[in-house]
Amino acid sequence: MNLENPYILLTPGPLSTSPTVRQAMLRDWCTWDDDYNLGVVTPIREGLIALATSTRPQDYTTVLMQGSGTFSVEAMIGTAVPRDGRLLVLANGEYGNRLGRIAITLGIDTIIHDSGELAPPDLGKLDAELSGDPTITHVVCVHNETTTGMINPLEAIAHIVKRHERIFLVDSMSAFGGMPLDVAELGIDFLVSSANKCIQGVPGFGFVIARISELQKCKGRSRSVSLDLYEQWQGMEKGKGKWRFTSPTHVVRAFAQAMTELQEEGGVAARYARYSENQRRLVGGMESLGFRCVLPHSLHSPIITGFYNPESPDYDFMKFYELLKEKGFVIYPGKVTGIDSFRIGTIGHVFPEDIDRLIVAISQSMYWVKTEAEVAALA
Ligand SMILES: *Cc1c(COP(=O)(O)O)cnc(C)c1O
Repeated sequence: MNLENPYILLTPGPLSTSPTVRQAMLRDWCTWDDDYNLGVVTPIREGLIALATSTRPQDYTTVLMQGSGTFSVEAMIGTAVPRDGRLLVLANGEYGNRLGRIAITLGIDTIIHDSGELAPPDLGKLDAELSGDPTITHVVCVHNETTTGMINPLEAIAHIVKRHERIFLVDSMSAFGGMPLDVAELGIDFLVSSANKCIQGVPGFGFVIARISELQKCKGRSRSVSLDLYEQWQGMEKGKGKWRFTSPTHVVRAFAQAMTELQEEGGVAARYARYSENQRRLVGGMESLGFRCVLPHSLHSPIITGFYNPESPDYDFMKFYELLKEKGFVIYPGKVTGIDSFRIGTIGHVFPEDIDRLIVAISQSMYWVKTEAEVAALA
């Protein structure tokens, strides 16, 4: 069997996985015996806590949840915020807006601070709002806003939220495992991520790292049966790794392999270094070809980068996309409102040499650059 992919995915996520992660899915598992629950699920739960905090692992637990990442976000918000709670959402992109939409749909009393897609959250406004409104019980933000690749100032936000003693929820979907952090040091109460982002598993479940003392208060709060984080946690604790409803066994086994490979690479610090080098080479190469980044470099994460589409009337994104796909690379359309752009992810089983090959492939796919003056302008 050929386990090679026809192209690498520069689309986080799903993203490119290693052949060994994909291979780990090639057997079936029984969900109610120890081979699976103690042998696969429990080490994953423990391993995720170790990734999340080295300072106070005993204060935290991990709950795994079926579905894509958004399902876990919805489980986290719908379980953590009580009926009489009030949630402040910091939004600066599609994923921040989604947090707000989920909360409102669940009937949660919600305030949204939208700083726009190109600006970081307004920390002064956050501080003032928390000072002036003691009824706000919870604050939620996105860590890496995947819409633009903006890294939000998690430490500064955490500092303000904790000074005002509110519960702090973080959507670290596209950063956790690829960027160092310590949930205990930051005072994060709930953090959500999923299998198919920086840990480089395949899609099918998400997980929430939760402060045990806060999760214990959440019994009966959930607005949903299947997305009840508290009941899911109780099921996993009492069943020693057993999922309440059918577990995505093959995906979970692949994730266990992905966790092993993260350790083999040298842990989160080494992965962060690789992603950073990927992104540095991407931006250097793209700028040398005349492309411009949507965000200033100072606001950038190493996860995904937005570029303006070329202004030439001959340029068409789909044509460019197809040419790159033929050469073995799949890129992402843009998502920023009002800005004509595309995105390239630098996470997954993707290495600096792949990025160098990508830049060559892009230079050979710039069919809209025709005149000598245009070519000269690129130099
Ligand atoms: C990927 C992602 C999600 C979840 O998206 P799904 O498509 O549901 O997996 C949520 N937030 C952020 C910031 C993401 O990057």
